[in-house]
Amino acid sequence: MYGKYQQYLQDTLTSIREAGLYKNERNIASPQSAEITLEDGSKALNFCANNYLGLADNPRLIKAASDIMATRGYGMSSVRFICGTQDMHKKLEKAIADYFHTEDTILYASCFDANGGVFEPLFTAEDAIISDSLNHASIIDGVRLCKAVRYRYENADMADLERCLKEAQAQRYRIIVTDGVFSMDGNVAPMDKICDLAEKYDALVMVDESHSAGVVGKTGHGVAEQYGCYGRIDIHTGTLGKAFGGAVGGFTTGRKEIIELLRQRSRPYLFSNSIPPTIVAAGLETFKILGESNELHTKLQENVDYFRDKMIAAGFDIKPTQSAICAVMLYDAPLSQKFAARIAEEGIFVTGFYYPVVPQGQARIRVQLSAAHKKEHLDKAIAAFIKVGKELGVLK
Ligand SMILES: *Cc1c(COP(=O)(O)O)cnc(C)c1O
Repeated sequence: MYGKYQQYLQDTLTSIREAGLYKNERNIASPQSAEITLEDGSKALNFCANNYLGLADNPRLIKAASDIMATRGYGMSSVRFICGTQDMHKKLEKAIADYFHTEDTILYASCFDANGGVFEPLFTAEDAIISDSLNHASIIDGVRLCKAVRYRYENADMADLERCLKEAQAQRYRIIVTDGVFSMDGNVAPMDKICDLAEKYDALVMVDESHSAGVVGKTGHGVAEQYGCYGRIDIHTGTLGKAFGGAVGGFTTGRKEIIELLRQRSRPYLFSNSIPPTIVAAGLETFKILGESNELHTKLQENVDYFRDKMIAAGFDIKPTQSAICAVMLYDAPLSQKFAARIAEEGIFVTGFYYPVVPQGQARIRVQLSAAHKKEHLDKAIAAFIKVGKELGVLK
């Protein structure tokens, strides 16, 4: 039967290509960093990684990961509850709880798994999940796996959230779910207002800190720190794959009974392998580094401010920058594609986004800043933006 099915697959792939949505991969032949080398030996400055704190090639993390194999081996060959828990897994869970000022943490292979496994064990058809319209795909999938009644509010729109909360009084328990930082505009969820509404309408609160942890808040500890909401957020999920080293691994951290029940019932935790010693050791080193000084977060903030101010001064239309994501608005889909391709020729890697990833007429270039960027990297990127911007008629 494959012949007929093959035809169907080929047609689908052709339609993806014709719609201009085909994703090609670039082969990097160096560590992930501000400056990367491609397979053909050419170099590029990277402004599209989630490497917010520049830890992806940090020597201390590399050493921690390589050294640990001598005493804790390579793989766990088990899930956590059978025989896949080492002393270090518990230490990392505690380090994450300390970082977020929460009671306990459960590790997953990814944040995709953390979000996929958080709702179904905690809520039933009697309950309600109230979700921001721009939440990450993994939250959407996690909600799909749960029988709770679903409500959806417009991005960060507190009046619309209130409407949902009123309707959801019909259910037994309610939870509001939001990304901390939304990945397309780089805007931060208004956590204080969300917590106020949760209190008023008797709801729990969950935030996915994947793009906010290490980035927002006075010392980079995420949205609870930024909005003074410690103790008011019941569940945080997050990843070790962005600011915290950039390898893999995810977590859910929050109230201890919630974490305890997840250890009993969360399917990606029960039925998927433990994260390996290398990742755990580098994770512990990450939180040690972040505990020693605030240098990386300070550098990231300086870089964001510098880049944004220079780009605005040059005449670009920038979304209000509240995180390490800077959206340079172009509004035209083909222009955003052309811009990203042209600036890549100048050695600057950024991502062009257009419909359906962002709303129609909202095409843009997304720039992601990192503590690893040096001032000369930023200056080179800004100069390239100005050059290509003039060439394509974006700037006068
Ligand atoms: C990146 C991201 C994830 C997925 O994290 P992984 O650990 O790579 O699976 C989940 N949620 C949000 C909001 C993200 O940005």
